[in-house]
Amino acid sequence: MIVCKFGGSSVQDADALMRLAGIIRSQREQKPIVVSSAMGKTTNNLLEVARTAAQGKKKEALDLLAKIKDRHLGEARKLGIAVAEDQVSETINTYFKEMRDLVRGLAALGELTPRITDAMASYGERLSTLIIARLLENEGLPAELMDARECIITDDRFTRAAPLFDLTEAAIVEQFRPVLRSGKIPVFQGFIGRTRDGITTTIGRGGSDFTAAIVGAALDAEDIQIWTDVDGIMTTDPHMVEDARRIRVISFNEAAELAYFGAKVLHPATIIPAVRKKIPVHVLNSSKPDHEGTLITNEAACCDNPIKAIAYKSGITVVNITSTRMFMAYGFLKKIFEIFEQYKVPVDVVATSEVSVSLTVDETSNLEDIVADLRKIGEVNIEGSKSIVCCVGDNVRNVPGLPYIAFSALRDIRIQMISQGASAINITFVIDDDQIPKAVRKLHDAFFQKVDPRIFE
Ligand code: ADP
Ligand code: ASP
Ligand code: MG
Repeated sequence: MIVCKFGGSSVQDADALMRLAGIIRSQREQKPIVVSSAMGKTTNNLLEVARTAAQGKKKEALDLLAKIKDRHLGEARKLGIAVAEDQVSETINTYFKEMRDLVRGLAALGELTPRITDAMASYGERLSTLIIARLLENEGLPAELMDARECIITDDRFTRAAPLFDLTEAAIVEQFRPVLRSGKIPVFQGFIGRTRDGITTTIGRGGSDFTAAIVGAALDAEDIQIWTDVDGIMTTDPHMVEDARRIRVISFNEAAELAYFGAKVLHPATIIPAVRKKIPVHVLNSSKPDHEGTLITNEAACCDNPIKAIAYKSGITVVNITSTRMFMAYGFLKKIFEIFEQYKVPVDVVATSEVSVSLTVDETSNLEDIVADLRKIGEVNIEGSKSIVCCVGDNVRNVPGLPYIAFSALRDIRIQMISQGASAINITFVIDDDQIPKAVRKLHDAFFQKVDPRIFE
């Protein structure tokens, strides 16, 4: 059995959906499970509806919602779905009626809570999978629409809820067993789940990859396929650097590092359940189903290039903490990290000196409170609009002269922080946001002039 996850652009319209049906048909023998994102940019659009409604602009929000409905119905009808009064069109109508009710509630209340945000966002995946399940049926591929909320049980940190693995695994096994036994193709929503009390949650933007890995791991899948809009994991974001090359094979560690430092092609948490069960993950282009894509495996393959890829993450905030009181004292770092831990805010890059610490955070929702607490320890200053650029490769630490290549490439760019060594497989820089395109291009030119054909295409 295999898990096939389709991202937003791989289900964005009727053509993409037909390609999905083809991909599933050609792998019928492997017993595919379909996990799907919302169609195209639906999640963004739904969140926009919710925000607009909460600002009291009810009519504007309802108009946006009507457009989302038209788009879904338009694409579905091109496939002969929802053309008559049947169960699919009835469900679509019900969903949009529920969403209109949410809009009215938000407009009256004037406040958008994370819980309502998730309720609204969840309709994207519920709509896409409703259409996909019917399409597969129409294509002679018997399918069963499942409800991810019966399986993915999470905590109640709405908008970035964490799955409770034991409960989730047990629920997946129980819910999938009869469907798999019936020989039907399960069609499952990415991204959404529910709390133990039954309230709808989402597991973080881009979370459908994570869902696919959780389902694959719980059911001991033979392969997890991440179908997306690029040829696989590339040497950098191909939308940033045109001549980015496809990576044929990459290790779990390298892929995790890349994902963590911003390579959107894979959700950072995806790797964890797959590694635990040693399930290979393939990243594939849904527009070119016959292409090989990227294989993520346990072992790093031999490679002449020291760096496999360059990732970047923009919109980062640097927090500098200085405390002369801490000179020669211990416990400084511990106190600082305890504060971040208390607010559950992850820290990405750290640089320290005797009396000061600089660190970066991606998430700023609790930053004011964090800074207030940090001020009890020392002076604090905050710098926004920063980016992390990260060169990843299994060999980073062992290759002499590698920092020299990176520094030479970045010689015209102001570097604010540097980190190498923590994971042995990355060298990381913090720079200004507006320097990212230049930095990524320069690093890519420096590291991928020549590529090892065993690893890169
Ligand atoms: P999906 O909707 O299929 O989940 P995403 O937009 O989340 O797709 O991820 C795919 C995108 O990731 C690509 O379109 C590309 O712009 C971006 N990306 C960033 N870094 C990389 C990389 N190293 N290799 C491939 N794609 C990358
Ligand atoms: N639809 C969700 C998002 O846009 C989840 C995903 O696509 O992975 O974030
Ligand atoms: Mg994604």
